[in-house]
Amino acid sequence: MSCGTAMLSDEHLAKRSKSQFKAMKDNEKISSNASHQAMIERVGKRITGVAQVDLPGTEWEFVVFQKNEPNAFAMPGGKVGVNSGLIELAGGNEDEVAAVIGHEIAHVAFRHSNKRMTQAMGIALGGVILNTAMRDKSSSDRLLASGAYGAGTTVGMALPFSRSQEREADHRGLFYSAMAGYDPRAAVSFWKKMQGRKKRKMPQFLSTHPNPGNRIEFLQSNMDHAYVLYVKAKNARGESPNP
Ligand SMILES: [Zn+2]
Repeated sequence: MSCGTAMLSDEHLAKRSKSQFKAMKDNEKISSNASHQAMIERVGKRITGVAQVDLPGTEWEFVVFQKNEPNAFAMPGGKVGVNSGLIELAGGNEDEVAAVIGHEIAHVAFRHSNKRMTQAMGIALGGVILNTAMRDKSSSDRLLASGAYGAGTTVGMALPFSRSQEREADHRGLFYSAMAGYDPRAAVSFWKKMQGRKKRKMPQFLSTHPNPGNRIEFLQSNMDHAYVLYVKAKNARGESPNP
């Protein structure tokens, strides 16, 4: 069971995300670090391979933006951005980057942006009626413009996720990364780094991904199960798991 109801058309959001992501690529600095770009494409391919069952037919795209803020996001429709500052905070540790990408992809799988927007717009209509309205582009734009989701905001980043959505993403993201053969314990080491940083400055990532309280404890409570899946995935890859 997941939190909230997604009433906006997934196709519409995917289309809108696609054009917003393109605008970001045109207007913002893309990292020239080829190994960072190769890393997130590799991680993305492995994690979406696992998540594909929840998101069939998604056209995934992974881009590293040259920005110091340790941030990452995934938009409906499979557009994923990772800031260079996040890879640096992770010290280039691919398992930690995978923990973040797993978490972001889980938000997409749960349609969390759609649910947050649906909620923010205070839509009281039935899903059928709204979906019919959404087929008409101009009326859907009117609807979107009338809600909290206005011009200048970005799909997937307009609204902070709720604590329960964060928990869902933490939970599923942990299993996505483990099943993709990434050490799930890296989620804990990464969030510890993030917390250390938070003491100095509140990064944007934490304002759109509020800390659901005992996040690290929650991750730890699922770690035994995740570790078993990780070992299985590593063995299937013919690689040895971290002890
Ligand atoms: Zn999140």
